[in-house]
This record gives sequence, structure tokens and C-alpha cells, in this order.
Amino acid sequence: MDRLAEKYFRPEKYPGTACRGCGLRLAHRKVLEAADELGLETEDVVWGTGIGCSGRQTFATWKGDTFAGTHGQVYCLATGLRLALPPEKRIIITAGDGDAFTIGFNHLLNAARRNVDMTVIICDNLGYQSTGGQYGLTTPGGARTDSSPYGMWEPNWTEDGFDVLRILKEAGATFLARHTVLDGQAPVESIQKALLNRGFSLVQLVYPCVTHFGVHSLGTRNLAEVYDWFRKRYGAGADGLATGIIHDASGSRPEFGARLRSYTERAGKGDAA
Ligand code: SF4
Repeated sequence: MDRLAEKYFRPEKYPGTACRGCGLRLAHRKVLEAADELGLETEDVVWGTGIGCSGRQTFATWKGDTFAGTHGQVYCLATGLRLALPPEKRIIITAGDGDAFTIGFNHLLNAARRNVDMTVIICDNLGYQSTGGQYGLTTPGGARTDSSPYGMWEPNWTEDGFDVLRILKEAGATFLARHTVLDGQAPVESIQKALLNRGFSLVQLVYPCVTHFGVHSLGTRNLAEVYDWFRKRYGAGADGLATGIIHDASGSRPEFGARLRSYTERAGKGDAA
């Protein structure tokens, strides 16, 4: 076990349940590096998870307090926790693209609208990989998957003029970024900014799934080939995905808990309007 794993992971659960070579480990690594560089200890963070590969992995390994909610409910639980916990306690949530951008999207939008202080990390494996590799709304156009044997045909949420992060910006999110797990230090810096923003922050981390996406869409489970495809499709200079900080309005809107406390104080004086 290396230093970060020793600091943040339960030794008996390490290295978790992700398949060998899965980019998910790199995604979690970026979060740990950001937390470590900010000096956060396990007791400074409560870590929530959604459903799917990303949730299973973190829920099993994080040494500190955790919670879980399926299909978007994790943001509702986080909202309650945000009101109950001291403000200095950070709430990190890892959820998959299928859980966050499709099934649980309504809850995600409302957490953004309320500007609830939480850092959401979307571990985007380009589809529903934990259930066998069906296409989702971030699956590249034309990709063959378990549920699109003739190619992904629905509009993609992140390509061809669509961008799910734009919708979240309109909803009221105050910090939004997107990176791939191969983008070096940039994702770590974005996650740090997200953790420092006292409001709703989301960082989408796109990573390769070797087991299902690799086999169904690329015809290989060979790690080098899958990562090579991923680098060419999403790497620097490729136009497959808008990456970087997409929106930084940190501190520009009142945070949900602060707004609610101010409201109840005024209501207590009969002056809530
Ligand atoms: S199914 Fe894919 S995304 Fe899920 S853990 Fe395995 S390689 Fe990773």
C-alpha cells in the first residue's frame, strides 16, 4: 500500500472491487491527491456514493464516514447532512454517469439549484458498465454496446452541441469542471477548487472501462489498446470532449444552508418574506 492508500483506505478492503486496469482507480486517486494536498484527514470528509462501479469501489475502501443513495438520492441525503454537519466538514460524493446524468438527474439539478455545499465527482465510464455494458448518454456516438449492437444512436449529453454541464450551470451550480483521468495534475487542481468552493461543485472525470466498453465497443480487453484508444479520442488536441474548468462562479451565490439559516432567523422574528 502506498502512502495515500494507507492514509485514506481501509486496509482490509484495499484495492477495492474495480476490474484490473480500470481507470476508476485513477479517478479516485485524483480525489485523494486533491484532499491530501489540501491537508484533509479522513475525519474531515464524509464520503457519499451513488450506484454502480464508482459507488461500490469507494464505499468499500474509504476509511472515514460514508453514506450511499441510489439513483440520485445521494444528493438528498447529502443535503440533510450538510445542514446537520459543521460547515468545515467536507462532503464528497462519487457517482457514475448513468446514475447522475440520467436516472438521478432531477435530484442533481435541484442540488445545483439550491447551491448545496458538496463536491460531486462524476466517474464517467461512458455507459452503464456495472450492469454489463449498456449504452448511456455519455457513450460515444456509434459505439457498439450490449444494448446498441449496431452502434449508439441517441444524442450524446457531451457532444454534438449538447453539454450536460451547461444545464447544470443554468441550474445554479457554482463550480463545474471536466477532465479525463489521463489529464495529469489538472483534475487534481479542479477538485481542489471544487472542495474549496462553499457551494455546489461538480467535477466530471472520464475514464476507460476495460471490461465492458473495451470488449463491446473496441473489441479488446488489452489494457494498452483500450488506453491508446482513450488517449486518441479524448487526449490533448482531440476534439472529442470539452475539458478544463467549464464554469467557476465560486462564492457568487448564497449557499443553501446559510440561506436557510438566515431565512429561519428572519422567520423567527416574523420577517421571512
Ligand atoms: S466494469 Fe468497467 S468501469 Fe466497472 S470496474 Fe470493471 S472495468 Fe471498471
